[in-house]
Amino acid sequence: MRTLCKKYSWHEVMQRDIRDHTIILDIDGVLMADAESTIDPQIASYIATLKEHNDIFIVSNSFRDARCAYAAEALGLPWIDSPFKKPSVSILNYMQYDHAKPMLVIGDKLLTDGIFALRIGAEPVMLHRRTSPKDRIVIKLTYLLDDIAYSLVRLWYTR
Ligand SMILES: [Mg+2]
Repeated sequence: MRTLCKKYSWHEVMQRDIRDHTIILDIDGVLMADAESTIDPQIASYIATLKEHNDIFIVSNSFRDARCAYAAEALGLPWIDSPFKKPSVSILNYMQYDHAKPMLVIGDKLLTDGIFALRIGAEPVMLHRRTSPKDRIVIKLTYLLDDIAYSLVRLWYTR
Protein backbone atom coordinates (compact mmCIF):
# COMPACT_ATOMS: atom_id res chain seq x y z
CA MET A 1 0.00 0.00 0.00
CA ARG A 2 2.83 2.36 0.82
CA THR A 3 3.94 2.42 -2.83
CA LEU A 4 0.56 3.96 -3.67
CA CYS A 5 1.40 7.08 -1.70
CA LYS A 6 3.86 8.53 -4.17
CA LYS A 7 2.67 10.20 -7.35
CA TYR A 8 4.93 10.59 -10.35
CA SER A 9 5.12 12.80 -13.40
CA TRP A 10 5.95 11.22 -16.76
CA HIS A 11 9.32 12.92 -16.53
CA GLU A 12 10.06 11.16 -13.23
CA VAL A 13 8.97 7.83 -14.67
CA MET A 14 11.52 8.28 -17.45
CA GLN A 15 14.26 9.19 -14.95
CA ARG A 16 13.75 5.77 -13.36
CA ASP A 17 14.93 4.08 -16.57
CA ILE A 18 12.54 1.14 -16.23
CA ARG A 19 13.70 -2.00 -18.08
CA ASP A 20 12.60 -5.60 -18.55
CA HIS A 21 9.16 -5.16 -17.06
CA THR A 22 5.68 -6.04 -18.17
CA ILE A 23 3.86 -2.73 -18.02
CA ILE A 24 0.10 -2.29 -17.87
CA LEU A 25 -0.72 1.19 -19.05
CA ASP A 26 -3.89 3.17 -18.42
CA ILE A 27 -5.29 5.71 -20.90
CA ASP A 28 -7.55 8.27 -19.25
CA GLY A 29 -5.81 10.72 -16.95
CA VAL A 30 -2.49 9.14 -17.98
CA LEU A 31 -2.06 9.34 -21.75
CA MET A 32 -4.88 11.80 -22.30
CA ALA A 33 -7.22 13.92 -20.24
CA ASP A 34 -10.86 12.86 -20.49
CA ALA A 35 -11.65 15.76 -22.81
CA GLU A 36 -8.60 15.26 -25.02
CA SER A 37 -8.84 13.15 -28.14
CA THR A 38 -5.17 12.92 -29.09
CA ILE A 39 -2.01 11.97 -27.24
CA ASP A 40 0.46 14.73 -26.44
CA PRO A 41 3.60 14.17 -28.58
CA GLN A 42 5.82 14.39 -25.49
CA ILE A 43 3.90 11.60 -23.77
CA ALA A 44 3.99 9.55 -26.99
CA SER A 45 7.75 9.98 -27.04
CA TYR A 46 8.06 8.86 -23.37
CA ILE A 47 6.08 5.73 -24.21
CA ALA A 48 8.24 5.06 -27.28
CA THR A 49 11.34 5.11 -25.03
CA LEU A 50 9.66 2.92 -22.41
CA LYS A 51 8.61 0.50 -25.15
CA GLU A 52 12.22 -0.08 -26.24
CA HIS A 53 13.00 -2.06 -23.08
CA ASN A 54 9.62 -3.25 -21.78
CA ASP A 55 6.49 -5.14 -22.83
CA ILE A 56 3.60 -2.70 -22.59
CA PHE A 57 -0.12 -3.46 -22.68
CA ILE A 58 -2.94 -0.93 -22.72
CA VAL A 59 -5.72 -1.70 -20.26
CA SER A 60 -8.46 0.89 -19.83
CA ASN A 61 -11.75 0.87 -17.94
CA SER A 62 -13.19 3.20 -20.57
CA PHE A 63 -16.31 2.18 -22.48
CA ARG A 64 -15.11 4.27 -25.43
CA ASP A 65 -13.62 1.49 -27.57
CA ALA A 66 -12.63 3.79 -30.43
CA ARG A 67 -10.53 5.80 -27.99
CA CYS A 68 -8.70 2.68 -26.78
CA ALA A 69 -8.15 1.55 -30.36
CA TYR A 70 -6.78 4.99 -31.22
CA ALA A 71 -4.31 4.96 -28.29
CA ALA A 72 -3.13 1.45 -29.15
CA GLU A 73 -2.69 2.36 -32.81
CA ALA A 74 -0.99 5.68 -32.10
CA LEU A 75 1.54 4.10 -29.73
CA GLY A 76 1.88 0.76 -31.52
CA LEU A 77 0.85 -1.19 -28.42
CA PRO A 78 -1.58 -4.04 -27.83
CA TRP A 79 -4.92 -3.08 -26.28
CA ILE A 80 -6.35 -5.72 -23.97
CA ASP A 81 -10.04 -5.64 -24.82
CA SER A 82 -11.57 -7.86 -22.12
CA PRO A 83 -15.02 -7.91 -20.51
CA PHE A 84 -13.35 -7.20 -17.17
CA LYS A 85 -12.47 -3.88 -15.62
CA LYS A 86 -9.65 -2.98 -13.23
CA PRO A 87 -9.22 -4.02 -10.43
CA SER A 88 -10.37 -7.46 -11.68
CA VAL A 89 -7.46 -9.89 -11.88
CA SER A 90 -9.28 -11.78 -14.67
CA ILE A 91 -7.86 -9.22 -17.12
CA LEU A 92 -4.57 -11.14 -16.96
CA ASN A 93 -6.25 -14.13 -18.63
CA TYR A 94 -6.58 -12.00 -21.76
CA MET A 95 -2.91 -11.01 -21.83
CA GLN A 96 -0.08 -12.97 -23.36
CA TYR A 97 2.89 -11.86 -21.33
CA ASP A 98 6.24 -13.05 -20.00
CA HIS A 99 5.48 -14.29 -16.49
CA ALA A 100 9.16 -14.09 -15.55
CA LYS A 101 9.24 -10.31 -15.81
CA PRO A 102 8.23 -8.09 -12.90
CA MET A 103 5.02 -6.16 -13.48
CA LEU A 104 4.26 -2.52 -13.23
CA VAL A 105 0.91 -0.75 -13.47
CA ILE A 106 0.97 2.86 -14.63
CA GLY A 107 -2.27 4.61 -13.81
CA ASP A 108 -3.88 7.56 -12.09
CA LYS A 109 -6.62 6.02 -9.93
CA LEU A 110 -6.06 4.35 -6.60
CA LEU A 111 -9.36 2.48 -6.66
CA THR A 112 -8.81 0.89 -10.08
CA ASP A 113 -5.13 0.99 -11.13
CA GLY A 114 -3.71 1.00 -7.61
CA ILE A 115 -5.81 -1.84 -6.22
CA PHE A 116 -5.34 -3.79 -9.46
CA ALA A 117 -1.56 -3.48 -9.12
CA LEU A 118 -1.63 -4.74 -5.54
CA ARG A 119 -3.92 -7.65 -6.45
CA ILE A 120 -1.69 -8.91 -9.26
CA GLY A 121 1.54 -8.36 -7.32
CA ALA A 122 2.66 -5.51 -9.57
CA GLU A 123 4.31 -2.30 -8.53
CA PRO A 124 1.84 0.58 -8.78
CA VAL A 125 3.23 3.66 -10.49
CA MET A 126 0.64 6.32 -9.79
CA LEU A 127 0.84 9.36 -12.01
CA HIS A 128 -0.22 12.93 -11.40
CA ARG A 129 -3.49 12.88 -13.28
CA ARG A 130 -3.72 14.59 -16.62
CA THR A 131 -6.88 16.68 -16.64
CA SER A 132 -8.60 19.32 -18.73
CA PRO A 133 -11.11 21.95 -17.62
CA LYS A 134 -13.37 20.42 -20.29
CA ASP A 135 -13.43 16.96 -18.65
CA ARG A 136 -16.98 15.66 -18.19
CA ILE A 137 -18.66 16.33 -14.81
CA VAL A 138 -19.23 12.63 -14.15
CA ILE A 139 -15.52 12.00 -14.71
CA LYS A 140 -14.56 14.87 -12.43
CA LEU A 141 -16.76 13.25 -9.77
CA THR A 142 -14.94 9.92 -10.06
CA TYR A 143 -11.66 11.84 -9.74
CA LEU A 144 -12.94 13.52 -6.59
CA LEU A 145 -13.93 10.19 -5.02
CA ASP A 146 -10.60 8.67 -5.94
CA ASP A 147 -8.70 11.62 -4.55
CA ILE A 148 -10.55 11.30 -1.26
CA ALA A 149 -9.62 7.62 -1.07
CA TYR A 150 -6.05 8.55 -1.97
CA SER A 151 -5.90 11.16 0.81
CA LEU A 152 -7.12 8.62 3.35
CA VAL A 153 -4.52 6.05 2.32
CA ARG A 154 -1.80 8.69 2.45
CA LEU A 155 -2.93 9.85 5.87
CA TRP A 156 -2.84 6.28 7.13
CA TYR A 157 0.64 5.54 5.85
CA THR A 158 2.41 8.81 6.44
CA ARG A 159 1.38 9.66 9.96
MG1 LIG B 1 -7.18 6.55 -15.61
